[in-house]
Amino acid sequence: MFPEWTAVVGFLIGATIGSFLNVVIYRLPLGLSINEPKHSFCPSCQNRLAAQDLVPLFSWLFRGGKCRQCGAKVPARYFWVEVITGSLWGLVWYQQLCVGADVARAICFVVMVSLLVAATFIDLRWFIIPDELNALLLLTGLGYNVSLIVQGRPEAWTWGLPSSVAGALVGTLVLWGITFLGRLIFQKDAMGHGDIKLARGIGACLFPLGAIVSFGTAIVLGAVLGIFQVIVASRKPQDDPEEETYIPEEPESLGSILKSGLGYLLAIDAIGMVIPKLYMGWFGEDPRAQETLEDDDWQPGFTTIPFGPYLAAGAIVAATASGPIKSILDAYLKYLHGD
Ligand SMILES: [Zn+2]
Repeated sequence: MFPEWTAVVGFLIGATIGSFLNVVIYRLPLGLSINEPKHSFCPSCQNRLAAQDLVPLFSWLFRGGKCRQCGAKVPARYFWVEVITGSLWGLVWYQQLCVGADVARAICFVVMVSLLVAATFIDLRWFIIPDELNALLLLTGLGYNVSLIVQGRPEAWTWGLPSSVAGALVGTLVLWGITFLGRLIFQKDAMGHGDIKLARGIGACLFPLGAIVSFGTAIVLGAVLGIFQVIVASRKPQDDPEEETYIPEEPESLGSILKSGLGYLLAIDAIGMVIPKLYMGWFGEDPRAQETLEDDDWQPGFTTIPFGPYLAAGAIVAATASGPIKSILDAYLKYLHGD
């Protein structure tokens, strides 16, 4: 549909979106409004940032990762979120608009990868995935398929919407099943609830097969990095005071896990973003309640890593690399057959 060089345009739009995601990543977990104040500010000196501070990638690079006004260090995260988001937009643009010609799917995928980038960086920092992001992810998948119906595409009724709903169900049930079984067998909280809702949204966007590929990739990535971590950790002197004073929390009751799981299947958490009373009635907490997070110097333990980033990475692989992976496999099989 478009010439290949236009993927650069996708990259630049993506980098700009990444710049906005940095605002979301900073403000959302702290309960700060995303659109108030409208201007960006330095968290250190509170000074308003000017246009020259907000050029994606370049501002961070040319200021050496420092605030122009107070000299405070700007985390490298700001740069990386822009690079990663830009690259993913460029890749989706290339695959869906240059090689393919599917505007609806391109939109679904760029929104999905953007939400996944935000979820990943928030999860790495705070060990939570905000409900807003998970609700939007579910809506993105369902909305994509509604758009197919609106376009009058016949496949919308066969693999479109039914697949999206089925994918959401598969995502919820697989992750919830792991949580439930983990609690039953090991008496431990195996999975965060944010992960279950994230898997549901991934399923809605990528359909059952894509969801399964995502989860498989996530588990492989988690295992590989987990082994790597254990090796690194075993070489580290054991003097971490947090490790010793760590008191395991009481695991969640099975009844509560059942009730939450049913709530996620019915998307009560997502609908509750618009009707907070419904959320309150089902989950017993106010979705708008101020998070008790504070932007202090708390750092997670060395070996604690949330599962959300793996799920997100798995979904990105499933969305962008299934074609290349398949052609490599095909080529390999051909080679084996001596063709
Ligand atoms: Zn500053």
